[in-house]
Amino acid sequence: MPILMHIDFNSYFASVEQQANPFLRGKAIAVGGKGKGLGGSTRSVVATASREAKARGVKTAMSTWEAKKICPELIILPGDPQKYSDITNRLITICTKYADQLEQFSTDEVFLDVTQSAQDYFGATLLAQTIRAELKAACGSACTASIGVAPNKLVAKLASESVKPNGLTVVLPENVAAFVATRPLKEFCGIGRQTERALETMGATSVATLRAISREQLVARFKSHGAWLSNAAHGKDNTPLAVDAPAKSIGHSYTFPANLLTKHDVWKNLLALSDRVASRMQHGYVVGFRVNAFVRYGDFSQMGGDKLFKEPLRDGLGIAKSAWSILLPNIDYARGVRLIGVTVSALQKNSVPPSLFRKTEKMHSVLGALNTIQKRFGQHAWQRATTAGTMLLERTSGWHYDHELAA
Ligand SMILES: [Mg+2]
Repeated sequence: MPILMHIDFNSYFASVEQQANPFLRGKAIAVGGKGKGLGGSTRSVVATASREAKARGVKTAMSTWEAKKICPELIILPGDPQKYSDITNRLITICTKYADQLEQFSTDEVFLDVTQSAQDYFGATLLAQTIRAELKAACGSACTASIGVAPNKLVAKLASESVKPNGLTVVLPENVAAFVATRPLKEFCGIGRQTERALETMGATSVATLRAISREQLVARFKSHGAWLSNAAHGKDNTPLAVDAPAKSIGHSYTFPANLLTKHDVWKNLLALSDRVASRMQHGYVVGFRVNAFVRYGDFSQMGGDKLFKEPLRDGLGIAKSAWSILLPNIDYARGVRLIGVTVSALQKNSVPPSLFRKTEKMHSVLGALNTIQKRFGQHAWQRATTAGTMLLERTSGWHYDHELAA
């Protein structure tokens, strides 16, 4: 059975503003947006209210005029989309590390499939706590999120919704039916205003009363949505995550301004290219098991091949050595190497257990540090001494990403 996690920032835009400006913390604030007024005119509405404003009765979609009336000290700020998307990206970066799959559901919500990475509900609980700690470090303590863990999306979202702010609610499979019965129907993602009203006319105003209506009756009234409602009343849902297909391969190729004529030049450029591939693999938290390497000669003929490895490839030197093992026996320097391409495929989430060997363990911690440096200061923050003076480093605008094609 899958284990899903739903993470939802609390009072998102308002919290981000409070994080950015300490003078706004603890105060009733609202981030304004545009809404539809009478006769289709636009009017200013509350997009997000801070916890303090909500306590005073300020609600999302309320006109700012009305909000000011019930809460005169309310501070209304214009929205700053760039600020919010920066924080959203931090959430996604953190979650990508831990999730088997991720669906960004809205600006401030993600669903994670953690079935493999967490193994069980105990693991999922620890994972949720880890993510929460990393979120706090990356986004600041004013940006809290509520997390729900459950066997499906419907219940995970109900769970995160049930404790705010900063909640962590884990619903074990055996407790799903009982937990769901405690939630109001309007909190169900899939029961909108219209459905809620229609259900009311059938006598269903709560989970208990909804359960009393037969599946046949629900289907007769709501068609296929009726079958979903009948399941939802018992906390059953099998909606899959909407995820983008992950990259199937990561590669770089490069055409040199002048043909390479020596073994040394080919090797050091191959190494520099492999470092770029490794860097992108590390950003995507994947390792790979297959390498494809090829060279194109000055006369446009091509030589290369691919090889499958038992040990995961994760660092530039490892990738370069593997690629070299394909190229070295056959390469003909006299023809001049015009282009080199390296691609790693058979990608897997980087969940391979840490090696028992000291030497590789050491290397992995170094790689982690180098990766952090690169994330902070850019791709060219460091380079191997061997690759100093490689032509591709001098012509960074010439990067090719032409090997991201699906395998
Ligand atoms: Mg939210």
